[in-house]
Amino acid sequence: MSEQPSPSTGKVVSSCDVVVVGAGIGGLYALHRLRSLGLDVQVFEAGDGVGGTWYWNRYPGARCDVESLFYSYSFSAELEQEWEWTERYPTQREILSYLNHVADRFELRRDIRLETRVTAAVYDEAARRWSVTTDRGDQVMAQFVVMATGCLSTWQIPAFPGVDSFQGERYHTGNWPHDPVDFAGKRVGFIGTGSTGIQAIPQIAKTARQLTVFQRTPNYAIPARNAPLRPGDQREVKARYREIRERMRTSPSGLPFAVAERAVLEEPPDLYLEALEEAWQAGGPPFLMMYRDVAVAEDANAIVADFVRSKIRETVRDPATAELLCPIDHPIGSKRICIEIEYFETYNRDNVELVDVRHSPVEEITPTGLRTSERTYELDVLVFATGFDAMTGTLLRIDIRGRGGVPLRERWADGPRTYLGLQVAGFPNLFTITGPGSPSVLSNMVVSIEQHVDWIADCITDLRAANLDTIEALPEAETIWVEHVNEVGAMTLYPKANSWYLGANIPGKPRIFMPYVGGVGVYRQYCDEVREAGYQGFVRSSPAGPADAPSPRAFATVTRYSKASAT
Ligand code: FAD
Repeated sequence: MSEQPSPSTGKVVSSCDVVVVGAGIGGLYALHRLRSLGLDVQVFEAGDGVGGTWYWNRYPGARCDVESLFYSYSFSAELEQEWEWTERYPTQREILSYLNHVADRFELRRDIRLETRVTAAVYDEAARRWSVTTDRGDQVMAQFVVMATGCLSTWQIPAFPGVDSFQGERYHTGNWPHDPVDFAGKRVGFIGTGSTGIQAIPQIAKTARQLTVFQRTPNYAIPARNAPLRPGDQREVKARYREIRERMRTSPSGLPFAVAERAVLEEPPDLYLEALEEAWQAGGPPFLMMYRDVAVAEDANAIVADFVRSKIRETVRDPATAELLCPIDHPIGSKRICIEIEYFETYNRDNVELVDVRHSPVEEITPTGLRTSERTYELDVLVFATGFDAMTGTLLRIDIRGRGGVPLRERWADGPRTYLGLQVAGFPNLFTITGPGSPSVLSNMVVSIEQHVDWIADCITDLRAANLDTIEALPEAETIWVEHVNEVGAMTLYPKANSWYLGANIPGKPRIFMPYVGGVGVYRQYCDEVREAGYQGFVRSSPAGPADAPSPRAFATVTRYSKASAT
């Protein structure tokens, strides 16, 4: 970074080409890739270490739902070959070691300022630069800002009455202490039964004296069938990595498994039950890719959901508890599918109790426990696995102001609007990694992150080659894209669940289906076509004026997506 006076304020500030906010998988790769273009890059990270999600979410049982060999960077063949994964699904600890290795191997740390939160980013139209401010008082002028702030990085606790009065130990899984938490001999209350709860509950149950799980919504969970990776299997994947990665990039969800051609509604019960059993025994996310009609046809979805419910009833000995654990209010797959290890078996333990708070709601958290409408629970520890203000929450906590000083909070008052999930009209040279309107949380996110970073790096390279300094999305292109994202979302069963994909977990948050469900491969094609067509839907400019004639039909190609490709 260099020091220079800010044209607008006259104050001495630092300057660089790019400020990257966040040092998770996205921020680390953005730094590496943009630095390799010769750009001067400064990363700010709120945590005191790199790794993002895998730095913060250290709760017992934290693990990735994507297999380790696929949840990894593809940008360096050497890295791919040298890193040895130990299990089919990597633990938080293993991913964090991997990301620290990446930071060291590519000498990233020297450009990352830790324990520094970006509080504001304001576009200075005269200077054609962003002024970025941090909670440590830094002010940096940058030509580009890359928000690698994460989709699931602002954890939240519901506003239960009395929530701050609790005198025992209190934890949120998304902000877990660095030192191990000792549950031995303690009465633990656990709130939240989504992906995280399903991972943490079996682990905490092993040592707690009593574990009481307060459940509002039961969720579908597929067995992980986790196991140590056999050296031969790892070698085989490594030998074929180029081909496998290509398959992942062009797939619907960034995984190397194709969605089957077969439709459950076209098969007799004995055939589909056999197929489902086989997929259940194999475990993991491919279970939902067995049939192409599960995501779009309610009857097909009901068959698969019934199968999963039958497995829950087989596993949980107490019939009343089993019924409570059976999801009934949303289609399978319309919320993030959970991958479990001994989750349902945990309810067979004598020290675990399930409380249905839909039937008897939490009325108050007291200094010594929790009171529902039916009874009081005395607790030593309260654990919240209550999720995140997903996709927009972290961005909107930064005071981002674009042209004319317009705050992003105002632009997004009715829900997020982006062009390709990469940019917001009126916010030139500001990019979002896995922003709303891109496949993001519906995909293997490493694949989506790499695609976004590569697109941004190419975009900056092309700008510089054309002697231009600014790129911004056209409002018309943004509108066409937002309509397309909504349209495609509406073809699926996703909007049928009250999920965080829709912002339903945050009171007052606009109900918009935020991720792009069209698939990683289709989406990548759109992004590539936009670039090949000279950044269709964007306007690029220099201080002398716009270089491209903006086309109002900016994104006319958004018609290719059909119901068939939704599956
Ligand atoms: P993050 O890892 O969230 O990193 C963002 C960073 O930005 C954070 O470190 C944060 O501190 C920092 N930051 C935010 N705001 C500021 C600010 N204003 N100033 C400075 N720093 C800031 N994805 C999958 O594909 N498969 C999975 O199985 C999977 N499992 C998950 C399990 C859990 C428990 C969670 C929470 C997420 C999971 N994800 C999974 C999603 C996961 O978030 C992504 O895979 C990936 O790690 C995101 O990387 P990122 O760099 O985009 O964001």
